[in-house]
Amino acid sequence: MNDEFPHGRFPREQALQLDAADPLRALRDQFLIPKRGAHEQIYLCGNSLGLQPRAARTVVQEALDKWANEAVEGHFTPPVQWLDYHALVRDALARVVGAQPHEVVAMNTLSVNLHLLMVSFYRPTQARSAILVEAGSFPTDRYAVESQIRFHGFDPATDLIEVQPDDETGIVSMATIASAIERHGPRLALVLWPGVQYRTGQAFDLQEIARLARAAGANVGFDLAHSVGNIPLQLHASGADFAVWCHYKYLNAGPGAVGGAFVHERHARDATLPRFAGWWGHEQATRFRMGAEFVPSIGADGWQLSNPPVLALAPLRASLEVIDNVGGIATLRAKAEKLGAYLEQLIDARLNDTLQILTPRNAAQRGCQLSLRVLGGRERGRALFEHLESIGIVGDWREPDVIRIAPTPAYNRFADCFDFVEAVAAWRAAQ
Ligand SMILES: *Cc1c(COP(=O)(O)O)cnc(C)c1O
Repeated sequence: MNDEFPHGRFPREQALQLDAADPLRALRDQFLIPKRGAHEQIYLCGNSLGLQPRAARTVVQEALDKWANEAVEGHFTPPVQWLDYHALVRDALARVVGAQPHEVVAMNTLSVNLHLLMVSFYRPTQARSAILVEAGSFPTDRYAVESQIRFHGFDPATDLIEVQPDDETGIVSMATIASAIERHGPRLALVLWPGVQYRTGQAFDLQEIARLARAAGANVGFDLAHSVGNIPLQLHASGADFAVWCHYKYLNAGPGAVGGAFVHERHARDATLPRFAGWWGHEQATRFRMGAEFVPSIGADGWQLSNPPVLALAPLRASLEVIDNVGGIATLRAKAEKLGAYLEQLIDARLNDTLQILTPRNAAQRGCQLSLRVLGGRERGRALFEHLESIGIVGDWREPDVIRIAPTPAYNRFADCFDFVEAVAAWRAAQ
C-alpha cells in the first residue's frame, strides 16, 4: 500500500483527518443525504441509485413553472427552449464519456437504447451471426441479446457465446477475453461488453476489447451502466461502434432518469445503416416540414425517436454541472481511488475473517465499488446485511452472499468507510 495509510492501528481520527484534507469535502453539501431516524445514513449505494443533488429540485421546478406559465410556447422561448432540451447536456456528457459532442445523446433508457443500437450494429449474416458476451451479464443485456438473435431468425443456443470467468470470484482476465474473441472471431457479428461488471465491480480495458473485436471483424458495443460517472472513459478513442448507459447510478440524475448513447463518429453520416427511426432523429433543419422521407440527423442524434422528456432530463443538467464545477471526472476519480484504497486496507486489516474482497485489487481494474463476499454462507451474509440496514448503513445485496459497497467521491467520506468497517466488526464481535 502507500504511505498515506500506514499499517498498524486505524483510529477513526485518521478518517477524520483524511476528510479534513480532502479537496472535495464541501461537495457533499450539494447533495441531500437521506436519514435513518435522526442521523444521516451512511449511504454506500451510489452504484444503484445516486443521491439527489440539491440543484435538481431547482431545474425541475423551473421546467414545471415554464410549463405552467408558457405551455406550448415553452418549446421555443428562451432561456431554455424545450425543443433542444436534450442538447443542453450534450457537451458535458461528451466530456464525461470522452467523446465528441455529436457522438452522444441523452435519450430513452439503457435497455431501449441497447435495442435501438443493436438494430444498427448487430447485423447477423449466415457466416457471422454470433454475439459474444460475458457469462455473468446483467439480465437486461442477456434478454436483449437473446431476443435480438431470435428476432433475426437465429438461435441463442449457438449464437450467444458466453465467456466464463477465470475462477469463482467472477473475474475475467484480458487473456480469457482475447482468447474467446480469437477462437470465435470469424463467427462474431458483435461483442457486447460491460465497462464495469455490476456484480464484481471489475473494470475492463475497453480500448483493448474494442481493438480485438474490430480486428476480428466484429462490431463492438459497451454497456456502461456502472462506468459512467465512475471511471474516466475515452469512448471515441476506444473505437467502439456504440455504447449505452443510464444516469441514475454514478451520475445522480434520479430514479429512471433518461439514459445515454454513443455512436462512433465513423457512423455519424451513414444514412444507409438500418435503424428504427422516429421524428426526433430527423435532421432538425427540415424536421418540421413533416415530410414523408426520413433524413437522419448527423451523429447520435439520428437515433432519437421522440421529443425530449424535459422533466426526466432536468436533473441530469444539475448533476452534470456538479461534476463540471469540481473539474470533471478526473478529479472525482482521484478521490475515489483513495476512498477505495482506504476501505480495502481497513477490510484487510480488520475483517479478513468475515469479508472477502471479490473486486480486483488493482485500482486500474475497478471503480468505486467493492464487492464483498460474506464468509460463512448466505444466511450469515443476510444477517449482516440486514443488521447494517437496520442501523442506517446502506449498501446492496447480490445473491447468494455478496454485499456491494460503493464509496462515491461526490458525497462519501473516509469516515463513512471507517464506520462501515467498525459496524461489521461490532456485529461480528456480538455473534
Ligand atoms: C443498471 C443497469 C441497467 C439498467 O437498465 P435500465 O434500462 O436503465 O433499467 C442495465 N444494464 C446494466 C449492466 C446495469 O447495471
